[in-house]
Amino acid sequence: VNKNGQVITSAVTTLDLHDIARAGKTYGVSAFYVVTPLEDQKKLTGRFLDHWITGGGASYNPNRGEALDLIRIKDRFQDVVDEITDQEGIRPLTVFTSARAGGQTLSYRRFREMLAQGRPHVLVFGTAWGLSGDFMAEADAVLEPVNGGTDYNHLSVRSAAAIILDRVLWIGEKETLC
Ligand code: SAM
Repeated sequence: VNKNGQVITSAVTTLDLHDIARAGKTYGVSAFYVVTPLEDQKKLTGRFLDHWITGGGASYNPNRGEALDLIRIKDRFQDVVDEITDQEGIRPLTVFTSARAGGQTLSYRRFREMLAQGRPHVLVFGTAWGLSGDFMAEADAVLEPVNGGTDYNHLSVRSAAAIILDRVLWIGEKETLC
């Protein structure tokens, strides 16, 4: 949604592609899906990926291409779910994120337990002013928001993604987190 709560399609930000792909690669995610139905945004993302994976950027900094190679572009979220279902033979569980999630939310501890059972999961992030209520209602679960203990609640999506990946996939002393 946009600032006024209207459902919109946001632009792709290349900084988000770089940073979320690197975080994803670091924590071992299988794929990073970018969902946009906009032709110009798909083209922009495709050109960006070509540059870093096979073009001039590949020799300049191969580490970037290695992470960006996780990126798949899809028109609709349902296409993501369908592709994973085809590949894995089971529908992935969808876990949505929000800065303002109310109601029943999934704790990080429980999410780690679910991941450990081996079923594929899709962790869903929004851009702009976040995911719409109608779309959030389709989630199998909504993850407990990141709470930094202050009134300031405006993390960028790339920061939120890095924090959440660390909370659910780190290999430190898991039992100390709740
Ligand atoms: N106010 C928006 C919201 O409700 O999520 C903030 C949008 S934020 C720029 C974009 C995305 O980052 C959100 O859709 C969510 O995926 C993620 N995000 C931002 N802050 C978060 C938080 N505190 N907890 C969990 N996810 C967060």
